[in-house]
Amino acid sequence: MPSASHQLIKFLLFLCLSASLRADITVTQLANEGVIISDGETRIMIDGFVVEPYSVYGGLPADAALQFEQQSGAFADIDLALASHRHHDHNQPRFACAFMQGSTVTEFYSGSQVIGLMREKCRQFMTTSPRVHEVSPQYEAPESFQAGGAKIRIFPLSHGTRKYARIQNNGHLIEMGGLTVLHVGDAAMDATDYARAAIDKVDIDVALIPFWYFQPGPGADVVEKYIDARFKIAVHIPPGEMAEVKEYLKQDFPQVMILENPLDQAVFTAIGPPPQ
Ligand SMILES: [Zn+2]
Repeated sequence: MPSASHQLIKFLLFLCLSASLRADITVTQLANEGVIISDGETRIMIDGFVVEPYSVYGGLPADAALQFEQQSGAFADIDLALASHRHHDHNQPRFACAFMQGSTVTEFYSGSQVIGLMREKCRQFMTTSPRVHEVSPQYEAPESFQAGGAKIRIFPLSHGTRKYARIQNNGHLIEMGGLTVLHVGDAAMDATDYARAAIDKVDIDVALIPFWYFQPGPGADVVEKYIDARFKIAVHIPPGEMAEVKEYLKQDFPQVMILENPLDQAVFTAIGPPPQ
């Protein structure tokens, strides 16, 4: 083989290797707390099966709903779909079933409560598809696995007490492109619970945080001690309160970002070399 093409192959190999270690990641806002996290290769969706408004929380506008239905545009080639918990502002069983049945590639991981509600809508599929995975992570034993170029960790975070005590809520850590992204679902603003999940031991680059953490109360302390990411994105904002929340954050937490509309995106780049 002539040495010039040898060099070229070596160079291409180098490009491929560096691309797999370091890449920009794009976070795409969906409805409510739904997001897609992508490094251009692996596309991971969390709480993305939300199409209709629920309570005061928004759904997808018509153009995005069409992309959802056709699994095109933002919703094309989803490798992995995750759902934090069974509340309908985070997972809508009918749309979750339609999406999973319309796909041949998307792998779905969630807890037994989410999967139980989906079984009521598409029992045959949910009980037979090899792409449906029920997880039951524990504080001392999170579920960890690899999906394409990403490392996933699913771990419990309490939804709260009283009527919320029995709701299984899972947090998700996604490592890709040299960055770590955290999604907490509807985790209670409970420092003890975050400590139990040992989340302060993780170097988080991008955290998706329900906006009420930044309102007066215990949230800001929890953020500072446990989820003090380089980049913070406020999520779960009711469309009717968007203007007010934006204004409030601008005043008191100017570094906190908002992706205001479904399909809005932000791109993040790793600093320094990725962990070996
Ligand atoms: Zn909830």
